[in-house]
Amino acid sequence: MTAPSFRRRAPRGPLVLDIRELGRRAGSMKRVVTQVPAPAELGTEMLHVLSGAPIDLDLRLEAVMEGVLVSGTAFTPLTGECARCLDPIEDDATVDIRELFYYPDRAPDDPEDDSFQVVNDHLDLEPALRDALVLSLPLSPCCRPDCAGLCADCGGRLDDPDVDHAHARADPRWAALPSLIENLSPNENTNTASNTNAESKEKD
Ligand SMILES: [Zn+2]
Ligand SMILES: [Zn+2]
Repeated sequence: MTAPSFRRRAPRGPLVLDIRELGRRAGSMKRVVTQVPAPAELGTEMLHVLSGAPIDLDLRLEAVMEGVLVSGTAFTPLTGECARCLDPIEDDATVDIRELFYYPDRAPDDPEDDSFQVVNDHLDLEPALRDALVLSLPLSPCCRPDCAGLCADCGGRLDDPDVDHAHARADPRWAALPSLIENLSPNENTNTASNTNAESKEKD
């Protein structure tokens, strides 16, 4: 037998795995532990992997009747911003991967089927990792679980202990708040509060 006349070009990229060593005998297995540079635009807008950042793969490749079953984890650093206060976030994620890559002659006939395939003895993990990572990321990442976010009036951080955000609050109960702020003297507190109140009244 000669090689088939039509051979698709093997995919390329940091997340392409060569499975020639694995062979097609069902039950054969290979562990892949490696670090690869992240491809561009992995993750979501709010939380993503910087292009070229190290991704640690710990995978098990297993030949089965229909193809190659890939299972394991990808550990990635994450960069993004807090959905509430827009502060930068540094985080990481361990993404579980479990995906069957069909041999071309075993792939489902359905053209609508978007399952993954072995191409020329290589499999490209990138789309699978993309999907798994996006599903594992929070929709609204936060710098801290209790981040109070930004003030609707001045845009400052509500958590900032140096800023009095009582400006737009008419409720007199908030008037006592400035005096609770430690690093201002009691006199300054009173002045700041009355000035702010006066300003906001003028605007109204
Ligand atoms: Zn935040
Ligand atoms: Zn404010």
